[in-house]
Amino acid sequence: MVNRKVDQYAVIGNPIAHSKSPYLHAVFARQSQQNLSYRALLAPLNGFEATVRQFIRDGGRGANVTLPFKLDAFNLCDEVTPGASAAGAVNTLWFKNKKIVGDNTDGIGLVTDIARNAYLCLQNKRILLLGAGGAARGVMLPLLECQPAEIIIANRSSEKAWKLINQFKQFGKLSCTEFKDIQGQFDLVINATSASIAAQLLPVPDSVYAPTTLAYDMMYADQPTLFMKHATKLGAQTRDGWGMLVEQAAESFYLWRGVRPETAKLLASR
Ligand code: NDP
Repeated sequence: MVNRKVDQYAVIGNPIAHSKSPYLHAVFARQSQQNLSYRALLAPLNGFEATVRQFIRDGGRGANVTLPFKLDAFNLCDEVTPGASAAGAVNTLWFKNKKIVGDNTDGIGLVTDIARNAYLCLQNKRILLLGAGGAARGVMLPLLECQPAEIIIANRSSEKAWKLINQFKQFGKLSCTEFKDIQGQFDLVINATSASIAAQLLPVPDSVYAPTTLAYDMMYADQPTLFMKHATKLGAQTRDGWGMLVEQAAESFYLWRGVRPETAKLLASR
């Protein structure tokens, strides 16, 4: 039963039962004393738009969008922010004057987690980005805005890496390479592939890691991923994508409510 007296928010995806977003937003709402409801909405695979429009009719104020609908959300929007436009995908919607507006907070979530929670300033740093799918594209602009020395992209299919380079080359120094040909050490190695989901180790040379390297897996799980275990064995620092998830949720909350929630306790809660 929908309580129309309370502002309605949701996360829309398929599948959706596993989503941590209702928990995160409930914590943010309690902590900032915002009276709102946030629930998980399962959209049929061919029914994303209908689900959003029904949610708006039911009093929805905003929504997060997760797999596999981030591109559908982008296409549905009447307006998108420059960040969403660069990412080509939307994970945060709000509804204003009969318009659907979209942003993408994934990249800001990653950069905030690295800079504020892992204390790594990215200015003049060497970054290795593994993967060139949706998540990689979403983080490109926020990473480049931190003014790293360079970003080297390695992806299984090199044409996708080239596409990213062509889209973002005006914002910083970018190049791409095969996994096995990656040269030198990096300050930050980001695993933006879904290889960890299949428990596969990428064929990246061990020499990319130094003791000061942060090896960041965008995936999060109860246990360290294979990518993280391998980097730890080689002496690097590691971090998974839990902080990215928490920080992208905090950014969405801020966009909707104008209140920036405190994330420290959530970050420490696992
Ligand atoms: P996509 O399907 O868009 O892209 C998948 C990427 O992984 C592609 O670059 C693909 O390469 C590569 N890949 C897949 N399997 C392998 C493999 N076995 N070996 C080498 N490369 C492989 O997925 P997303 O970009 O949306 O997601 C990527 C990861 O990021 C996932 O683990 C996801 O959970 C995580 N993520 C985390 C978020 C968070 O908040 N923490 C937010 C968003 C994503 P190719 O192009 O050659 O197919």
